[in-house]
Amino acid sequence: MIVANWKMHFDYKKALEVGCAIKSKLSDAKAEIAVCAPFVYLKDLSECFKNSNIKLGAQNLYFEDEGAYTGEVSAMMLKSVGCQIVIVGHSERRQLFGEDDNMINKKIKSAIKHNITPILCVGESLSQRQNNETFTIIENQLAKDLLDIKETVIIAYEPIWAIGSGKVANSEQIFEVHEFIKKFIDTKVLYGGSVNAQNAGELSKIQNVDGFLVGGASLDAQKFYEIALNF
Ligand code: PEP
Repeated sequence: MIVANWKMHFDYKKALEVGCAIKSKLSDAKAEIAVCAPFVYLKDLSECFKNSNIKLGAQNLYFEDEGAYTGEVSAMMLKSVGCQIVIVGHSERRQLFGEDDNMINKKIKSAIKHNITPILCVGESLSQRQNNETFTIIENQLAKDLLDIKETVIIAYEPIWAIGSGKVANSEQIFEVHEFIKKFIDTKVLYGGSVNAQNAGELSKIQNVDGFLVGGASLDAQKFYEIALNF
């Protein structure tokens, strides 16, 4: 599974241009492909992805269905525009927007209630890795974020120090963390952190890597296509 996380990039015209280019290049791909776009582009992207295998994803949601929550977007709303996937607990949301594990747990439950597959992001900071806290941090995130959840949740292992930095985790680091996650929960585990067309081939050889969550390199349809092709 190869998932694009566009973050807060593109105006409307560019988003549709890149989305439709991804669709035409990858509609017959062997790998499952998803594009997680800003909320305002979802409806038109869902039209563009019609009759293809490309899945439509959001990058966040709020856990209530409706109410006085100015500025928020719910799973019910996402479902109504054709969203099938949602990223939850990205490190940027944890760090910049103060999302805690309790909130992430509620968001995952709300996505599941509306039949949207959550992709839960977990990962350690550089100082946590240097202090040998990686497994404790990840176990703690998984235990709290998945509390009382039995349904399918995809996990993305994203070491914070590898996101947008050009520093990819090495094969051994990825293998052992994915193994640890799979012991905790039997599900697909994606790797995220500076994946590009050059390193995707090597990374995809790691035995327990089920796909990638791709930030920067997903902004270019050709680069994203090459990543999917190399998987
Ligand atoms: C991400 O933000 O999910 C990510 C993996 O970003 P990048 O590929 O740019 O490191």
